[in-house]
Amino acid sequence: MSDARTIQLPAIAFIGAGSMAGAIINGLASPVVDVEGGIRVTSRSAATAARFAELRGVSAHATENEADANPEAVRGAKLVVLAVKPYQVPDVLAEIAGALEPGTVVASVAAGVTVATMEAAVPASVAVVRTMPNTPAQVGRGVTGVSGGTRATADDVALVRALFETVGAVVEVPESQLDELSTISGSGPAYVFLLIEEFTKTAVAKGFSREQAELLVGHTFLGAAELLAATHEEPAELRRRVTSPGGTTEKAIEVLQAADLSGLFDRATDAALARARELA
Ligand code: NAD
Repeated sequence: MSDARTIQLPAIAFIGAGSMAGAIINGLASPVVDVEGGIRVTSRSAATAARFAELRGVSAHATENEADANPEAVRGAKLVVLAVKPYQVPDVLAEIAGALEPGTVVASVAAGVTVATMEAAVPASVAVVRTMPNTPAQVGRGVTGVSGGTRATADDVALVRALFETVGAVVEVPESQLDELSTISGSGPAYVFLLIEEFTKTAVAKGFSREQAELLVGHTFLGAAELLAATHEEPAELRRRVTSPGGTTEKAIEVLQAADLSGLFDRATDAALARARELA
């Protein structure tokens, strides 16, 4: 039965059931999400399909067992999520195009596959929305960039937003900004993990055991992020409160700032962007 918090979504088909689709499907399987018409999932592997089939409201099929699993999954679905690798998208679209009903929304998470490519591969009555999620979606803390195609209505984009809001926050941007967004939030978790790795090595070098170092650094990142989220203060203000004039933190911050951190982030994200353009 629905309660005030229930999010209602129409029938959804996921083509591909890897780490990204898995994160979203787990979000949808939560008790506050009600997917009328159910969640259909396809994967190449029967073992993966069997795992998903155990989730609430999910029916899953494998292409290795059923050659027409993909067209069958999209027939009657209002929303189709393409969650295969980018190079697999053209083949999947060719396979399902004939089974997509007018008014279906196709949302892709595939990096670098353009709206124009996808719109050309599906009937004109089908809308396309391109998205860029990130891996913290696995714990309901993702952030997803969403960009509607030329045929997507405000309602179509709202439907895709509602889907990704089950696993985190959503930011709507023009398609021309999706590559930039990917260098911030798509790749971003890797930057944070790198900082944590390096900071942990420093703690070990200061004499802490590996276990203590992981606890000290892990909780410092988590605690700082949660403090920021809970207080809604500017990060610079929260930093000021840790940094007494003439104190120890101030000395460390001086060293970090002398390393031109913002220049480093500019160069890192520029390198990611250049690679995205090469791959396009
Ligand atoms: P993955 O390899 O874990 O999953 C791919 C899935 O697609 C597998 O379940 C595979 O069985 C299935 N598949 C392949 N061909 C198929 C077919 N013809 N029919 C049905 N299923 C098929 O990959 P992933 O990491 O989940 O990435 C999927 C997409 O998500 C990629 O396009 C990637 O660009 C995008 N993405 C990933 C991340 C990330 O951080 N992992 C972030 C943003 C976007």
